[in-house]
Amino acid sequence: MKILVSNDDGIFAQGLRALTSELKQIGQVVVVAPDREQAATGTAVSLHQPIRVHQVAPVVPGVESYAVRGTPGDCVIVALGKLITDRVDLVICGINHGANLGDDVPISGTVGAALQAYLHGLPAIAISVPGSNSPPLDTAAKLAALLAKEIGLGVLPANVFLNVNLPDLPPAKIGGISITHLADRNYTDVVEERDDGGYPYYWFVRQKKNQATDKQTDTWAVEHGNISITLLHANLDKSSPPLPDNLCSDLFQQLRAS
Ligand code: MN
Repeated sequence: MKILVSNDDGIFAQGLRALTSELKQIGQVVVVAPDREQAATGTAVSLHQPIRVHQVAPVVPGVESYAVRGTPGDCVIVALGKLITDRVDLVICGINHGANLGDDVPISGTVGAALQAYLHGLPAIAISVPGSNSPPLDTAAKLAALLAKEIGLGVLPANVFLNVNLPDLPPAKIGGISITHLADRNYTDVVEERDDGGYPYYWFVRQKKNQATDKQTDTWAVEHGNISITLLHANLDKSSPPLPDNLCSDLFQQLRAS
């Protein structure tokens, strides 16, 4: 099994190393990751600047590793399009240092990298733990390897990719694994005014809203000590509610008359 590993925390991140060393036990791993922190770059892809790539010292002994001056999405595109010439079976992104739940997902670079794999028709997993020194890092790595084996057996439907989050608990305290939906609007963005020696600027502070109440959501699962797995797809308009019947004709008539 050939596995591409990427992340958004950069090539030196501890989570990337933990993931790579576990996956090395079950397949041939290639690491292609940003050369620096690329958190919250979401689905960004560099269409108007050069993508520079350097082969670097193996992240884990024996694992071909590349550092990319670009976004997590760029890493996956350049890996699949140029750096890896044979077939890739699976792409795993992480282990991210920081949860990617609910409204985190559209801005997460970890998920953005997995999305590119999905858009290339490959199975993909984004996997995250709550903090930088979270106890579940090893557990997350083991879970990624188990999921990789299942995916190798063809368990995953073709039209989804996985967003996996672990609670901040030692392995023995984790309650179980739940298949979840993304929580809706779980943050408030506060725009703070700050000052840099006479130069005012703004700083975004994400504040968590109240504890989750919907038991189907990823935030509820993780807050209650479970591992959350959300099945994602790129079809942003899927199952949207209907709009009034004559909205389009009304708008068009108004546009004509204007
Ligand atoms: Mn990150």
